[in-house]
Amino acid sequence: MTDDLRFLRRFLDTLPGDPESSNSTRPVVGAAWSRVQPTAVAAPRLLAWSRPLAAELGLTSERMQDPTTAAVLGGNAVWPGMAPYAANYGGHQFGNWAGQLGDGRAIVLGELVTPAGAVQELQLKGAGPTPYSRRGDGRAVLRSSIREFLCSEAMWALGVPTTRALSLVGTGDRVVRDMFYDGNPQYEPGAIVCRVAPSFLRFGNFELPSSRGDLPLLRRLVDFALGLHFPQLGAPGRPAYEALLHEVAARTARLIAHWQAIGFVHGVMNTDNMSLLGLTIDYGPYGWIDDFDLGWTPNTTDAGQRRYAFGNQPGVGLWNVARLGEALLPLLDDDERVVEGALGHYQQVYATAAGERFGNKLGLHFDAAAGDGELLQQLFTWLSATRIDMTLFFRALAPLLLVDAAPSELPTSVRAAFYGEVEPEHAVAGTEWLQRWWRRARSAARPPAVSAAAMAACNPKFVLRNWLAQEAIDAAHQGELGKVERLLRVFERPFDEQPGHDDLAQKRPDWAKNKPGCSALSCSS
Ligand code: AMP
Ligand code: MG
Repeated sequence: MTDDLRFLRRFLDTLPGDPESSNSTRPVVGAAWSRVQPTAVAAPRLLAWSRPLAAELGLTSERMQDPTTAAVLGGNAVWPGMAPYAANYGGHQFGNWAGQLGDGRAIVLGELVTPAGAVQELQLKGAGPTPYSRRGDGRAVLRSSIREFLCSEAMWALGVPTTRALSLVGTGDRVVRDMFYDGNPQYEPGAIVCRVAPSFLRFGNFELPSSRGDLPLLRRLVDFALGLHFPQLGAPGRPAYEALLHEVAARTARLIAHWQAIGFVHGVMNTDNMSLLGLTIDYGPYGWIDDFDLGWTPNTTDAGQRRYAFGNQPGVGLWNVARLGEALLPLLDDDERVVEGALGHYQQVYATAAGERFGNKLGLHFDAAAGDGELLQQLFTWLSATRIDMTLFFRALAPLLLVDAAPSELPTSVRAAFYGEVEPEHAVAGTEWLQRWWRRARSAARPPAVSAAAMAACNPKFVLRNWLAQEAIDAAHQGELGKVERLLRVFERPFDEQPGHDDLAQKRPDWAKNKPGCSALSCSS
């Protein structure tokens, strides 16, 4: 049954590996990967899986539900052709160089050739220790696995570049976690997500050999990435290296502009969590903006510094690209102007992408000369002052554009997106802004109905609000997986009205305001 699945070993065959095969945690020098086997679990059970992704990978429904598949996706077996390994990388964590990190609880099973001829890596997260596990157990808990599983697929449906999630498997084992870092460790159910991406290469894969002065390995990694993932940039050599840095800068800028436009906060933008392909990667203590607050971070570990807060993400992306640029300097004849050029490029691409995305959200073709920069700035000021619900606010705009007069007062749909009382001055300022926006958007050449339809296609109705994920997690802890399944299905179509699912498109209820998992999360997952 598995003969028809074809796996490649490009990473293993092209890049140098670790000659040692023990799982003992240790520095691994001169190697991009270590061979490692997943550690078997007690009772792997497929709890949920992504139908669209399975179809793309050529995995039929029958195969997905076959017990041998749960065994593979739970780390108890491998399909022929799979050759599991953990990747070696470093990273800057919270602004500081952290040295070697590596896949401490992620294991790549293999590179699957899809029916369309693409290649996708399958990676288990939570499948046991590797040489990079340091003090960790290599496992993942059910709550964080549900969050990663659901959000990966929800982001994909929103059109955001992301690693995907094929499956959520319960392990039947329990894992100990000190969820609040308060000295109260508890047993929690363990789980494993199978992540899927064309490549899991991170900025940190390049930073590590560069930090060690291992230029041969650095060059092999860059040449490998160029050849497989950026062939359009030309053959390895200084011009291609320069183009690579520019391209990664641009992809990162566009990715973060997308995050800002939908209110996604990654939470841990360390350079080991930055994808070379510009994908959203490593869903940990991420969160979604309910009430608009540029200073909000979902990550309790970052509550003091707020380094990775919503409004800081574009700047952090830039900082991270600078770290990648520094790492590549030895391949760029140490010419720092190349890095400066890439950073300038990032800023330019970010400004254009953010203008476009927010322009589209407002039904405008963004035009600085028409005063759209000021219009947006005024909007951000008002959103920040009112702390209105971001998703509901933007979703309320398209219908207003279809009314043949500018709003004369704050519309009910906008009032409904407030978390508290609507202060009179906020109502006045909001109405004035809506009038300016309405006149500007209605002055467009295209008919309002066309603009409104385009707005509905980029202002989602459904985003994976933290409390929704938490409700599904609480139910899953009681053995009830219906809520996970429902979120998975509804979030496949986030821009559609989907009558009957309005309860999943509500602002955060009061009970969720300070509940763990709903407002703040720790990294302990
Ligand atoms: P993260 O903050 O999840 O991106 O992880 C940072 C580093 O810690 C990576 O090298 C991870 O592989 C490692 N790590 C995180 N959690 C665990 C765990 N439970 N066991 C082993 N390594 C882990
Ligand atoms: Mg990580």
